[in-house]
Amino acid sequence: MPLDVGGAAVAAGVVVAGLLGSLFGSFLNVCIVRLPLDQSVVRPRSRCPRCGSQIAWYDNVPVLSWLMLGGRCRGCRERISVQYPLVEALVAGLWAAAAWWYGLTFDALTAATFGTILLGIAVTDARHLLIPDEYTWGGLALGLLLALRGGWGGLLTAVIGAGVGFGLLYGIAWAGERVFREEAMGGGDIKMMAMVGAFVGWKGVLLTLFGGALLGTLVFIPLSIKKRRLVPFGVFLAAAAGITFVLGEAIFRWYEAFLRV
Ligand SMILES: [Zn+2]
Repeated sequence: MPLDVGGAAVAAGVVVAGLLGSLFGSFLNVCIVRLPLDQSVVRPRSRCPRCGSQIAWYDNVPVLSWLMLGGRCRGCRERISVQYPLVEALVAGLWAAAAWWYGLTFDALTAATFGTILLGIAVTDARHLLIPDEYTWGGLALGLLLALRGGWGGLLTAVIGAGVGFGLLYGIAWAGERVFREEAMGGGDIKMMAMVGAFVGWKGVLLTLFGGALLGTLVFIPLSIKKRRLVPFGVFLAAAAGITFVLGEAIFRWYEAFLRV
């Protein structure tokens, strides 16, 4: 069989991206647990919440350690949440998929970074109904930095996207408070859409908002008929933002063709 060097290089790149992603997934778990509590994500090292034993590096290998230990602490056999290996596997898959789809490019790095931030926002908002600034302001800074791959024009597009995301959501929140006399949207959603705008541009902001409202309505109207509850809107915005990043251009092209008919 002839050696396919091109294919082998692509496969190696995808595997390396997946391994790198599993490490970022491991770090994202720390962020998901600690950021809502305003704790440092750097120190101290992770401990078992029950017996307090420090988790050794060999018990902290993404996905594998959890499987080898049967989802329990080595010291006290306390159950370890399945959220840990799940987030690690998801982020690993995300980084591998980005490398496979975009090749080893800055576009892949941008897609993987954006997806990782969105996953962190979705899980945190679903669990705590809040979106920490590290994801939104931190993600905005990363988005603007990565936009430089498109030169000054790319940066300008990202700045306009962030401005439209922030301004539009701020306006909706302001109007909502006037009309309904209660807080319709949290500050986290406003900052989140500034970050999203830096990655998907101003048209992407509109599509994300439309998609997020649609998903939120489809999922939450059946649920909220039973009992009135707060909506983690960030979860739906995150899903819509991810879809917009991947399919946005195709959707805009389809829409333009649709208008011309
Ligand atoms: Zn323990």
